[in-house]
Amino acid sequence: MSKQFKLERLVRPNIMALKPYSSARDEFTNFESDMVYLDANENPFPTEVNRYPDPWQKQLKAVLADQKKVPTDKMLLGNGSDEVLDILIRAFCEPAKDSVITLPPTYGMYKVLADIHHIKNIEVPLNEDFEPNLKEILKYNSERTKMLFICNPNNPTGNTFSEERVSTLLDSFNGIVVIDEAYIDFSEKKSWLNALAAYPNLVITQTLSKAYGMAGIRLGICYASAEIISVLNKLKPPYNVNSLTQSFAINRLKDKNKLKNHICSIIDEKNSLSKVLLQVSFIKSIIPSDTNFILCRVDDADFRYQQLIEHGIVVRNRSSQVLCENTLRFTVGTSAENTKLIHTLKKLEA
Ligand SMILES: *Cc1c(COP(=O)(O)O)cnc(C)c1O
Repeated sequence: MSKQFKLERLVRPNIMALKPYSSARDEFTNFESDMVYLDANENPFPTEVNRYPDPWQKQLKAVLADQKKVPTDKMLLGNGSDEVLDILIRAFCEPAKDSVITLPPTYGMYKVLADIHHIKNIEVPLNEDFEPNLKEILKYNSERTKMLFICNPNNPTGNTFSEERVSTLLDSFNGIVVIDEAYIDFSEKKSWLNALAAYPNLVITQTLSKAYGMAGIRLGICYASAEIISVLNKLKPPYNVNSLTQSFAINRLKDKNKLKNHICSIIDEKNSLSKVLLQVSFIKSIIPSDTNFILCRVDDADFRYQQLIEHGIVVRNRSSQVLCENTLRFTVGTSAENTKLIHTLKKLEA
């Protein structure tokens, strides 16, 4: 990143100039007092959800701010991180002109979103150790290369990138660096959240879909400078996080012990599963994982995938991705589910 970071240089001009939609709930915000609300054409009869949700999710953000130690003006919430990623691309990338960089093998949505918005996706594969190839990435530094997506820990490989490489990219890449931390709560490595103040071009995404066990409610979180967040706030749909999601998330986030127990149990299961998988004759290798999944190299991924389906187990075949020939990705399940997986794999050895 150049010494003088200028956000205006990166944001699309129409977004910079955008006057956002002003909702009824924006124009009158004094929720404390006992008012009669005749401003939003809602149905007045109580159904628990007859009122529009808080467009700024204040209560939920306050809980997250307390747990993550990030102020609420550095946060944007979305309908899953997929919506957050979509908002980011729409804020910075001009269709048919701009490009983004992704580092395959990685999460497939970055490319799909780039394709949807007609943004060129420059793919710079990881090296043999599944680390970012710095020299190659920085070759694409240009005014029109707006964003770099770093999935850390990475999906589908499960590893965390070297801290030094990531900080070099933050220092040297001219555009926005998005670090997708969907799996960070399974990892012992530290989050990049503490680096937000140091890098004006850093954006971090997290989600309640994985470690927090709430994939069904769709809640993704974007952390960035207050300056970046204020741009993103202009283009987010006014009521993108519904009231059921907001209240469910608040309740479950407060149950810290239960959350912690689930995460610990998944990590324990992953550690024991990793050991047993290596004893299966047709599993050639596994990549040490900082996540809740394990990528295994097998003798014949299509064949093993099909065999597992026939035994009632669905895994993910990642073989079509670069550097992932003959790999299967196993999500860590409950102890009973993992035992079933192991028994089945042992049976298939025969
Ligand atoms: C699962 C996953 C997500 C989660 O997306 P949501 O829309 O929040 O469910 C984001 N990034 C990566 C890398 C993932 O694997």
